[in-house]
Amino acid sequence: MRRTVVLLGPPASGKGTQAARFSRAHDFLHFDMGGALREAAAGDSPLAEEIRSYTDAGHLVPDEVVRRLIELMFAANRERDIILDGFPRSMEQAELLEHAMSEAGRELTAAVLIGLPEEEIAIRILNRRVCPVCGKAYNLVTMPPKSDEKCDDDGYPLEHRADDTEEVLKERLAVYKEKTRPIIAHYEAVGVLARVDGTAGVNDVGEQIEKVVLDS
Ligand code: AMP
Repeated sequence: MRRTVVLLGPPASGKGTQAARFSRAHDFLHFDMGGALREAAAGDSPLAEEIRSYTDAGHLVPDEVVRRLIELMFAANRERDIILDGFPRSMEQAELLEHAMSEAGRELTAAVLIGLPEEEIAIRILNRRVCPVCGKAYNLVTMPPKSDEKCDDDGYPLEHRADDTEEVLKERLAVYKEKTRPIIAHYEAVGVLARVDGTAGVNDVGEQIEKVVLDS
């Protein structure tokens, strides 16, 4: 059976960086829900505007929208191992994932929680810059681009995400605590949860994740 792995963690814990790293090394599909939603939110359609009204405020986009994205993704990638980044983010979405996996003939292989203290989250968010073209994330202090605020891979000027502000972060953290944290207890109870220390360096965290996933 194909493997399905969930990466959990607060904003800026390194989910995207680690999922990208892991998927390159082990030929997993990296599905980034936040990235998929940002793509769907580009443009002037009513759906794009609706999605932006949630993402810009730090709120979760309605389950009906994310359900469609997840189902399409599973249907288009039946033969792939998959690492999910940013999904599920609530108990309702964990149930929705269970349902979508059983429809696709899959089971959850592992849920990996990247832990990071709150003080560190704010520092990372304010220093985060992303490439608007390929989505690669940088940190101006700990993981800067090689040349002045341009993407190493395609040379585009990096951007500060619209929701990476102190004000929106407060809301995103509140949503994380209220909606996402209960999933951690759930995955722990069913025996699929593993915790890694997100304060370690990128390679170190990556190795912790590899160990957990490849042993599961
Ligand atoms: P991220 O790129 O993971 O930080 O997500 C950015 C924003 O996209 C979040 O603050 C939410 O507004 C939205 N988003 C990402 N993942 C989900 C999800 N699983 N359910 C609903 N909204 C989401």
